[in-house]
Amino acid sequence: AERKRKVGAVIEDVERTLSTPTALLRGISDAMVTEMERGLRGDIHAAVKMLITYVDNLPTGNEQGLFYALDLGGTNFRVLRVQLGGKEKRVVRQQYNEVSIPPHLMVGTSMELFDFIAAALSKFVETEGDDFHLPVGRQRELGFTFSFPVNQTSISSGTLIKWTKGFSINGAIGEDVVSELSKAMERQGLDMKVTALVNDTVGTLAGGRYVDNDVVAAIILGTGTNAAYVEHANAIAKWTGLLPKSGNMVINTEWGSFKSDKLPLSEFDKAMDFESLNPGEQIYEKMISGMYLGEIVRRILLKLAHDASLFGDVVPPKLEQPFVLRTPDMSAMHHDSSHDLNIVGVKLKDIVGVADTSLEVRYIARHICDIVAERAARLAAAGIFGILKKLGRDKLPSGGGKMPRTAIALDGGLYEHYKKFSSCLESTLTDLLGEDVSSSVVTKLANDGSGIGAALLAASHSQYA
Ligand code: ADP
Ligand code: MG
Repeated sequence: AERKRKVGAVIEDVERTLSTPTALLRGISDAMVTEMERGLRGDIHAAVKMLITYVDNLPTGNEQGLFYALDLGGTNFRVLRVQLGGKEKRVVRQQYNEVSIPPHLMVGTSMELFDFIAAALSKFVETEGDDFHLPVGRQRELGFTFSFPVNQTSISSGTLIKWTKGFSINGAIGEDVVSELSKAMERQGLDMKVTALVNDTVGTLAGGRYVDNDVVAAIILGTGTNAAYVEHANAIAKWTGLLPKSGNMVINTEWGSFKSDKLPLSEFDKAMDFESLNPGEQIYEKMISGMYLGEIVRRILLKLAHDASLFGDVVPPKLEQPFVLRTPDMSAMHHDSSHDLNIVGVKLKDIVGVADTSLEVRYIARHICDIVAERAARLAAAGIFGILKKLGRDKLPSGGGKMPRTAIALDGGLYEHYKKFSSCLESTLTDLLGEDVSSSVVTKLANDGSGIGAALLAASHSQYA
């Protein structure tokens, strides 16, 4: 009974500190908008960087030819080739290959990492079949999706600001990532030109626009989280160049670094951040994205084990190990709707090392997953609502005109595979927008849109165009 009381007290405390009432979410959306505006002014203290992408036109459908794309930014990297057939034929043919990045390369030297990537790309190019056509005398061209914060200097160049998501490589910061990749391709004897350097959010936005003309923003919810959207060029105070003809500029928000004292930061978040590779940074990302959610659950379970003997008199040693509980496992536990919570039982046995958990303990474990996932999904929805506010698409037109349709492209393993997360995100967004407005806002999964998007941008920025 004493144990039960302690367990109940810890859970209540967790519920309280991780709660996200709608009024709080509205405040967070407003804080996001404020930081976005500061970022657009170039305020160095802005919590979100609002990076200029040099993408002032999104795909039209007219893109034609053979293009390659390379996507680096998380646990896997992908190479892709696509034969584009223009307005009528669209994507005629596409092939891709996915390679996981050996963990030692994520914390090694930048030359080793880029050599590994260029070698895989080179191998992939060798398998190009006769059903792909490169006009004679032309160089192959590549869209490079690089999903880390980059200070872009043109559509095809930019310097790395910092690593995130578990990457920590000395020496690459401040270097031009396109020139690093190009040098590595040369070392492989691969003749290919990088014509577009894009963030995965920008690639997803481009890929999303290609299939739906109303796409104005793209959100990534995978290992990390980020968002990009189409801004009016004249709303970007820090932009000193000529205004683009289109009048638009895609902004890579880098919203993962958002922080605000409105965010419900718990002791678990603070401890995880403190022990991370990048303490004090990417606070919003650490509350939302796939790399971290399982770890937050582990930390809560550990507290329950320590303070309330949830798993008996001894704290299971395996539970002490950072990152043993991965978000896909958390998701599997969370979705267990069996009577005996069998999957939760199996996961607790395999991961935490406790066989024969009671139904009550399993129920608690699932409840913790629910609390952590719900907070993440609701915070992500608040961010999206912030972007819609920034775009003026959060309310009915003041003149009483027709509400334009707004589409948002979403991608990333967390959004794609964690059903309870994505449905909570969607219902929260509906709640924030209200019924009238939300009926003209659609969210859609842009499955691997970023690869195609990068290839499309490589095409529209081709040296032969
Ligand atoms: P990246 O973000 O690394 O480019 P993805 O978009 O494929 O790659 O996202 C991978 C991330 O998605 C994983 O790190 C994991 O956190 C999350 N994820 C993958 N599968 C699942 C799942 N079944 N349930 C919950 N999260 C998942
Ligand atoms: Mg990705």
